[in-house]
Amino acid sequence: MNFVYANLSTSLATTQPGWLTTLQNLVGPMVACMVAFLVVFWLSTVIWTFRDIRARTQDFLLQIISTVAVAIFPIAGVFVYMILRPRQTLAEIYERQLEEESLLAEMTERQTCSNCHARIESDFQVCPSCGQKLKRSCPKCERLLELRWTFCPYCTTNLAGAPMPSMPGMANMQGVPNSNIPMGGPIPGNRF
Ligand SMILES: [Zn+2]
Ligand SMILES: [Zn+2]
Repeated sequence: MNFVYANLSTSLATTQPGWLTTLQNLVGPMVACMVAFLVVFWLSTVIWTFRDIRARTQDFLLQIISTVAVAIFPIAGVFVYMILRPRQTLAEIYERQLEEESLLAEMTERQTCSNCHARIESDFQVCPSCGQKLKRSCPKCERLLELRWTFCPYCTTNLAGAPMPSMPGMANMQGVPNSNIPMGGPIPGNRF
């Protein structure tokens, strides 16, 4: 019985090294490949996170925290980062701002009649819808002027016609020193 077992064990011992050593030879490179892959995978997630966060925020502290968190917690960190990261990239935010600005510019550029709110062009003299007077032409150079303007900015014509009433104002200013005469009254009072 012992002999049979010994015989079996020796036959096992002799057959074992044949396939086991080849397996053992394979395990080393396989583990090395696995480790190398994991390291490359980890490194690429860190690089991806750094690039991604840089596209989403200019906050340097936030960039560093996100990258370090993904580096410390390899796979879970990436998931948490993807949940918490800023929703829009800086390019998307910039693009949206541009769109909003152009929309706003378009809206302010579009003029409407103050009376009936119909759309008007900047060179209309009256509203085509209700006839509201919008602009007038200069009597001298015939360019279009705003109704509230008193001078033509193109040919310097005074649109009010009559000169500005500045003389009565001057007369009033001259009247002020006259009213100071009674103010000198207290001076004789000093004699008391
Ligand atoms: Zn109108
Ligand atoms: Zn003019």
